[in-house]
Amino acid sequence: APAAAHVEALLASYADFPQPGIMFRDLNPVFADAAAFRAIIDDLADQHRGQFDAVAGIEARGFLLAAAVGYAANAAVLAVRKGGKLPGTVLTEEYNLEYGSARLELEVGQLPAGTRVLILDDVLATGGTIAATTRLIERAGYTLTGVGVVLELIDLHGRERLGTAPVHAIVSI
Ligand code: 5GP
Repeated sequence: APAAAHVEALLASYADFPQPGIMFRDLNPVFADAAAFRAIIDDLADQHRGQFDAVAGIEARGFLLAAAVGYAANAAVLAVRKGGKLPGTVLTEEYNLEYGSARLELEVGQLPAGTRVLILDDVLATGGTIAATTRLIERAGYTLTGVGVVLELIDLHGRERLGTAPVHAIVSI
């Protein structure tokens, strides 16, 4: 079955999690199904095939995608981590959440300038997380050539906060 059919069949939704008014989409059942996981990894790799030399996964579920897509596509893997976890010289981007702020970081100097990078995460919601990651990739001297997510929540208009690199969502709801 195509990746989208797997996601639509397995996606779970939880009202009022982690707080009232939020409809949380749980993709763990997709990751927990071997055929579905293989289908989403192949789809993310195929949609951007030939367009990237490295994948940047966003902590934590983006790591699962980046590791597998990197392996499938013979690409390097970058870990974009939450604040305070990386040693050495790091770039930091702070961004606002509904309540408070968050910090994402990337170690500098891991790959040559101009390396073509595909950003991967599980869900595109308001877009703040991927927008901050985009800034990290560009500040590090890399070239952002694509964004891939399993699920896009279209009502939150996250796509509008991102730049011109192609954004591919397996499912948009
Ligand atoms: P943003 O609003 O910045 O696009 O999303 C914030 C972060 O929370 C992203 O890493 C995104 O994957 C995660 N996220 C937001 N909403 C959901 C959701 O409904 N389900 C899951 N699994 N993750 C979410």
